Amino acid sequence: MLYAVARDETICHHFKTHYAERMHTTDLIVQEVRDRTASNGDYTKQLVKNAATDTLRRLIATADVQVDVTLQDDEDEVLFDRIVLHLRELEQRRNKNNERSTSAEKHVGEASAIVCSVRERNSGNKVVLLTNDGDASVAAKTQGVDSRHFGHALVELVCNRRITSEKAWRTFGSANKITAVPSAVTPNSVEEFTCGDTDGACITCDKRATLLSSKL
Ligand SMILES: [Zn+2]
Repeated sequence: MLYAVARDETICHHFKTHYAERMHTTDLIVQEVRDRTASNGDYTKQLVKNAATDTLRRLIATADVQVDVTLQDDEDEVLFDRIVLHLRELEQRRNKNNERSTSAEKHVGEASAIVCSVRERNSGNKVVLLTNDGDASVAAKTQGVDSRHFGHALVELVCNRRITSEKAWRTFGSANKITAVPSAVTPNSVEEFTCGDTDGACITCDKRATLLSSKL
């Protein structure tokens, strides 16, 4: 999600303005981003490396995104372990046919974002988890945290007349090469990036007030 925002300078600018003071990420996610800036490899890895570099430069170094400490007490550790386990189960269920065991490390970023979202919610703030990972959405829901993917965030920018539907559609297409939204919920046309508020019925506009603290 951070990658999707950071790789397009215009979108990044509008995120910073629209979600000013409301964007959070976690220490463990930032560590993953740093690791990605050092990776070399095929075309996709190269795209991720560039996006990771943009993320550090445009969002983290500028302090536009607040970095939360994931593990603050024993309770956080218990919750963290439980969420990692849940994410691993969800992944195994999807890949029933290949028996490859998955490392816990793989789910560290998503689990840390959910732990911090739960803490934020428990301290009385409204929180939405911004993630393109379908399993992370399911695990967050189990903890009572709602999530949105990059496409939803772009629609919200359209609703607030910060970008056009065409710009949202183009941006979604190129970001999806790096951080893909599950195909079942992937928008298929520019029409899905329009504000539906002709009769007060746009879900995104209605939910706007709940986006107090957006985890990326
Ligand atoms: Zn709208």
